[in-house]
This record gives sequence, structure tokens and C-alpha cells, in this order.
Amino acid sequence: MHVYSVPLRARFRGITRRTGLLVEGPAGWGEFCPFEEYGDDEAMAWLACAREAANDGWPTPVRDRIPVNCTVPVVEPARAHEIVAKSGCSTAKVKVAESTLADDCARLEAVRDALGPQGFVRVDANMMWDVDTAVTAIKALDRAAGGLQYVEQPCRTLDELAAVRRKVGVPIAADESIRKAEDPLKVAVSGAADIAVIKVAPLGGVRKALEVAEACGLPCVVSSALETSVGMAAGVALAAALPELDHACGLATVQLLDGDVTSDSLLPVDGYLPVLGQAPVPDRVAEFESGDRAWVERYERVLAKLSQQS
Ligand SMILES: [Mg+2]
Repeated sequence: MHVYSVPLRARFRGITRRTGLLVEGPAGWGEFCPFEEYGDDEAMAWLACAREAANDGWPTPVRDRIPVNCTVPVVEPARAHEIVAKSGCSTAKVKVAESTLADDCARLEAVRDALGPQGFVRVDANMMWDVDTAVTAIKALDRAAGGLQYVEQPCRTLDELAAVRRKVGVPIAADESIRKAEDPLKVAVSGAADIAVIKVAPLGGVRKALEVAEACGLPCVVSSALETSVGMAAGVALAAALPELDHACGLATVQLLDGDVTSDSLLPVDGYLPVLGQAPVPDRVAEFESGDRAWVERYERVLAKLSQQS
């Protein structure tokens, strides 16, 4: 077992380092990395995901590589252009709603310019808008981007998503509405969204996430939770096992970390990640070992809860 702490290249979600724990089992390595503010109940799914990787391994893949998007944070247009052009990806995901609408539009114009007319641009508002703000913003952003592929989680609730969906032509994707739900298997997302964003750790592993994908009945996009390459391999395994995969996935986020616990990093080549049978071995973890006992205690507490439940 290793406790790691890897610096981020830029502040993300208000954090400057990514921390977590790597655990080895008979099937390989798993990563347990719920964000620091998550309580033990919420962390149980993350541990189930790590234990699936370590103990059981993953279902048989149906594809051998996964198309991925590049991620554009809230940066100047010139920097956004550079990120997209350098990425080799034909799909860009742009964070919006954290700056002014004019700034978001300028960034989207730069992204479209870098992608060319054939590329896909999607935006993520992380629940920041009310319905009216969302409708106004989405129309403006769609124009600036020369067409949006979809807008992810414009508002907080499913009712709001449904209301926005009736008023704009851009498809709506649900993210937080699914993974933060009391029971992700029972979210009635079909009238409120066109696309489901699924994340392997918050949903409790590849098999659980496949059940959620089937239950919601929508095309899925697999996204990461800012894992190292060890945890990212589980997201790739999910994308590889989905019966249908029509869109690029949000799994090219290892590059947001300033370092990795493995020398075989899961970084995209020409817009694709390779599908691995198991997580890469964390052969560089010594460089990032933090020795923080609090993580081991968290792991043990959450494991006790998980064993009680099953
Ligand atoms: Mg999102």
C-alpha cells in the first residue's frame, strides 16, 4: 500500500495537489482517491472501485483504444488555443460559467479556431447557472463555438436541466445529477438529458458503472476524477467495456498532474488512450510517497463500512 501526493500543474477544483492511496491485490493495483472533503459514506464507492481493480480485475473490453477530449480550463484565449492545438485531440471540453460570458465566448472562439470546423466542442458549467442564465449563455456560447456538441450540467436539478433542454437546441449532458444521486441506478435522467457522463470511482467500479449506463439508457461519456494513471486505467476499462461509445471521453487528465506514480503514463497519442488489461504498476511512487497516516486510517475506516454493508 502506498500513500501518494502529486502536485497539479495548475489549481483545479481549488486544490494544488492530488492525494490518495494505492493498494495492490491479486488482480493488480487499485487507486482510492476520494476528494479530501468527502465523508466516509461517499468514499465507499471509491473504495469499491479500487478493490475491484485490485481483487477482481475488469470485464472483457470490446475496443482497444478510447477517443479522448482535451480539457481547457479558465485561461486566456491564446493559452486555450495552444492547449487544443498541442493536444492532438479532435474534441475539446471547455470549462465555462466561472468567468464572464464574454470571456467564455472569446475562449470558445479560440478553441474552435484551433480545432478547425470538423472538431467537436463541449462545455461544462458544473451546475453554476439558473434556467434563464443557462438559456441565454448556451445560445451565446453555441454561436461563439460555431456549434456545441453538448453542454454538461448547466444547472443543479434534473427539473432545471429538463427546462433548459426544452428551450435550447444544444444537447444536454448530466454529470453531477447522476453521480451525486442517492441511487445512481434510479435517476430518471432520460427526459432531462441527452447524454450521461459516468465516472468509475464515484459509481463504485467498472461493473457498477456499466449497470448505471444501462439503467439510464442514454449514450455515455466516461470522465475521470483526476486520478493518477493507476486509477485512470479503471476509467479506460469502463469506456472499453461499454457496448456503445459514440463520443470522446474525458480521460486525458493525467496531464493535469505534474508527475505520475507510473512510468507508463496514460497519456493520449493522436487523441486516443490505449486499453490496458490492468492498471500500470506504480513503479515511480517513491517520488511521491507522502507517508500520510490519515489516508491509511481513512482507508481502514471506509473498508470496515464497506464490509459491514456487504
Ligand atoms: Mg462535469
